Amino acid sequence: MPTQQTEAAVTITALHKSYGNVRAVDGLDLELAHGSTVALLGPNGSGKSTTVNTLLGLLTPDSGSIRVYGHEPAEAVSKGLIGAMLQQGAYPNSAKVREVLNLARNLYRKPLPLDLLAETADLTDLLDRKVNNLSGGQVQRVRFAFALAGDPKLLVMDEPTVGLDVDARQLFWRGVRRFAATGRTVLFSTHYLEEADAAADRIVVMTHGKLAADSTGEEIKHRFTTRTVSFSIGTDSSEGLDRLPGVLSVEIHGERAHLRTSDSDATVNELLATRGPVRELELSGGSLEDAFLSLTSAAAENQEA
Ligand code: ADP
Repeated sequence: MPTQQTEAAVTITALHKSYGNVRAVDGLDLELAHGSTVALLGPNGSGKSTTVNTLLGLLTPDSGSIRVYGHEPAEAVSKGLIGAMLQQGAYPNSAKVREVLNLARNLYRKPLPLDLLAETADLTDLLDRKVNNLSGGQVQRVRFAFALAGDPKLLVMDEPTVGLDVDARQLFWRGVRRFAATGRTVLFSTHYLEEADAAADRIVVMTHGKLAADSTGEEIKHRFTTRTVSFSIGTDSSEGLDRLPGVLSVEIHGERAHLRTSDSDATVNELLATRGPVRELELSGGSLEDAFLSLTSAAAENQEA
């Protein structure tokens, strides 16, 4: 028997799904470890929703297999193993938060206690408010709580914070972290790359129905971003700068040298070792946003080649 730590929450093997001649998912292999929080990133049309919908049993794959805690998706849903927070879905406007959450709880044999559900989603003070009097962020937390009502082992969310302001997003992720801290598995898609970096312990990037990267935010940044190392060179020679490790290009503007590099650590270490102390050293670039853009544009070029 696998232990709790190594148990796979989701195993997707050679998944294919086409719509006519559009290959939405094109041979996807992906395993999510129990207890992990995973962000699914990718440009529009890269196959994220199709993947999520097959995982939830809403779409049937053309070929390949999906197991959720060892079960077929539809079976896992009916056993209450999966909680889903999808983009659409409205509640009766005149209903109170308490009523909506109890409605969700009534769908399950062993629902989470109302108090705990409200506490997890920061809704304790809002239980007697009508849903139509809530802010966008509060409504999203109600939808989050709705997805948690059956105490699922896996929570799946499709762009859960789209349109929310920074404060509302922070409050939302606080609830997700609370849920994840109980040892549950979370998979969410998002366009907010910095948010994926902050909220997920693993980032999976899809392009053209395939995996383009599978890593931590830190590793993706390191692997796919170029950074610029710049320093004041004054009237010194720029000889040899282009041979420093990682350096892709060298430009001198006025008294400053700008080295574009794929490995800023190696570049700086060797720069200091060979030239001694340098003045006004600066490092720029390297955000997850940069990594994502360089990743997806590289994938698009490969596709066109
Ligand atoms: P994402 O969620 O990453 O935006 P999708 O899974 O929605 O990607 O879409 C993947 C590809 O499949 C896109 O080219 C999209 O146009 C196409 N597609 C998705 N749903 C349908 C559908 N119901 N009918 C036809 N094509 C679809």
